Amino acid sequence: MSGLLIKNCRIFSLTERTGETISYKNGAVGIAGNRIVYVGNDPDAIVRFEREHGTGLEVLDAHGMLLMPGLINLHNHVAMTLMRGYANDMELQSWLTEKIWPFEAKLLPEDVSRGAALGIAEMLLGGTTTFADMYWHTDQIIEQAIRSGVRMVACPAFTEHVFDGYLDRMEQMVGRYHGAAAGRIAVWIAPHAPYTCRPEQIRESLSLCRKYDIGVHIHLSETASEVKTVQEHYGQTPIRLMQELGVFDYRTLAAHCVYPTDEELEILRNDHVTVVYNPQSNMKLASGIAPISRMLAQGINVCMGTDGPSSNNDLDMWDEMRTGALLQKVSTGDPRSLPAETVLRMVTVDAAKAIGHAGELGVVAEGALADLILIDLDQPHLTPDYDLMSNLVYCARGADVDTVLIDGQVVVRAKRLVTLDFETIKQEVDQTLQNLAQRA
Ligand SMILES: [Zn+2]
Repeated sequence: MSGLLIKNCRIFSLTERTGETISYKNGAVGIAGNRIVYVGNDPDAIVRFEREHGTGLEVLDAHGMLLMPGLINLHNHVAMTLMRGYANDMELQSWLTEKIWPFEAKLLPEDVSRGAALGIAEMLLGGTTTFADMYWHTDQIIEQAIRSGVRMVACPAFTEHVFDGYLDRMEQMVGRYHGAAAGRIAVWIAPHAPYTCRPEQIRESLSLCRKYDIGVHIHLSETASEVKTVQEHYGQTPIRLMQELGVFDYRTLAAHCVYPTDEELEILRNDHVTVVYNPQSNMKLASGIAPISRMLAQGINVCMGTDGPSSNNDLDMWDEMRTGALLQKVSTGDPRSLPAETVLRMVTVDAAKAIGHAGELGVVAEGALADLILIDLDQPHLTPDYDLMSNLVYCARGADVDTVLIDGQVVVRAKRLVTLDFETIKQEVDQTLQNLAQRA
């Protein structure tokens, strides 16, 4: 079994228990295969680990770096990198109907593949090791995920117009990819939103969750106009409607939840729904501000996502953390809202819990999967160091990530991609954009 020892680094991780941290000033992490087998600073234990792995052991001296869990982005449409900067400063409905949907109608599977490679490259370089994605031609995205080594919850989307054959396509997709790449790939269903899918379709799609024990990824209560439309059509608010349809009987990632009623907040908590907070997308599309502080106070599991790169417009989770924290402080008028520790929980331990990997991901602990990042701390904007968590949330950037490991494999080394080639990706994306310009 391959071994890797990362030594001379600072180590920081939260645990599943609130307020508890794992912290070493000068520690080491030993990895065997895809798991962490040692965390600590005991010289004897480190020597023992070195001896056990002998000459096959790779040793990484991480002096001046912080080792922490990889970040988890729970709402994305990664292939929309193709539309980064394509449509800006527009209201959501016209942004979707006049720009995004007509563009997407022209996309072929190979375009989605290239867009996905670009987005995955960006995420890896910024320290995101797991992402949940909702899109079309998902097999193409999964293939890129497998190639790159990233961990992914792949969620093929449907709307009322493309529901024909969805169940059959999903059966194939689940059979082929759920648990693939040593378990790095999971496949969940994705009804796009309550206003784009018919209730009976959503109910029908849940048969797959029952059959395969998989979860649901959905846009929910994103805008005031969605709430109004759903209420007019079905006499219910969106979250309530989804509960009635049985969506929350399964593990659910509910992206946005900007306009929940008091009753709906209770539903989200009682049904253990994970809310995915996408502050930058909600700000850019002026959708509103999700009441995250209230949700957390009520015990709802809240995580974070970037949403697609055409409404953000990047996939930097550090940026998202900072914006998300600041936005809650402004909206509540209370600077104590969403403190740094809570934000870090949302992108690590709580996100791992949301996708069924509690204790395995989002934590630097013996027995956990080796999805880890090294941050270069030796930089002006991270100095001085009164409070590591506040530096990470309020100062750190994607560009500070030096090394990324997923499942024990190095996928970024010294700020360079190992499994992907950016020059090739860029050329292929250029080619795709030229092809799209010529396509009617
Ligand atoms: Zn979205």
